[in-house]
Order: sequence, then structure tokens, then C-alpha cells
Amino acid sequence: MEYLTLGLILSREEGNEADSFLHIYTRDFGRIAAVAKSLRKITSKLSGHLLPGRLVSVRIVERNNGGWQAVDAVSLGFLPASAGSLKFLRFLREVTPLNEPDPEIWERVATLAEDGEIGREVYGDFLDAMGLGASLAKCANCGGEVAYFLPKDIMFMCKRCFQRSLVSEDEAIDI
Ligand SMILES: [Zn+2]
Repeated sequence: MEYLTLGLILSREEGNEADSFLHIYTRDFGRIAAVAKSLRKITSKLSGHLLPGRLVSVRIVERNNGGWQAVDAVSLGFLPASAGSLKFLRFLREVTPLNEPDPEIWERVATLAEDGEIGREVYGDFLDAMGLGASLAKCANCGGEVAYFLPKDIMFMCKRCFQRSLVSEDEAIDI
């Protein structure tokens, strides 16, 4: 089956041959893992569209193994190329479940890709929409007031516990 949907490219890793492995947050399927064939070949028109931070109209085909293949894409917009954008893309990749569409998350993703600003309140809003309740959360360690969210562990921490932990600022979201 082939589908046409909208999506935000979250990550791209180069594999064997000229294949690339993508994570895309899509309107209709939530976050998907997709392979794109021959992406690094010079003739691949797809390559420039399938870059992290691009909002795309993308044609995807379901594969036998349950994964997806991206067969065509056109860029509709993009997040500014900044450390803040990359951090946000990584955050989305880490906290959103695979193959679970969520209209509330998609609506936020689509709006975000248009105005391109990713501040603290954006993270708080996404966490709330994901049912992670940033506003009600407590430090996982001591129960204190939260200052950071750790996407890898899906966990909140207060400032003190965070500073004592070995987690780098880069892997934490300052909320
Ligand atoms: Zn604490």
C-alpha cells in the first residue's frame, strides 16, 4: 500500500550502499522509521528534501517487515538550521511512540515548522500534549520542583539533582 502524507524529518542516518534511514513524524501514522533507497546518489532528487528539519509532503510505501519506504518527497518548509532545532528534533524522536498517530502532536508539529521558534514553552506544551504533564511533574529523584526533562529516560529532575547527575546539558531539556 502506498500513502501520501505530511511529515517532519526528525533524523537521517546513512546505511549501506546509498540507502538512508529516516525517522519522520507524520500526520497520519505518527513517528515512522523509513528507509530511502539510493539517497546519496548524485541523481537522487529526493535527497535534498529528506533532510532533518524539513517539513515535507511524502509518499511512503508499507514494507513486508512492518517498516516503511519513502519513495517521493517535496519540501514545504523547514526549521531554521540551529542547535535548538536539532535538539528539538531529537526530543521528538525520543519521546514519541512509533506508528501511533496523534492529531494533537501533529497540529503542534505543523505549526512549529511554520514559525520555527522553539522555546521553553514549546517543550512544556508538547509534554502536556503527550500526557507527560510537565506542569504537574516532580523530580524523579527527590520529588522537588522540576527544572529539566530527560528525553532518553522520559524523566523529570530538579536543578540540584540534575547538577549532581552525570547528564550533560545537551541531553536535557531546560523547562
Ligand atoms: Zn531532585
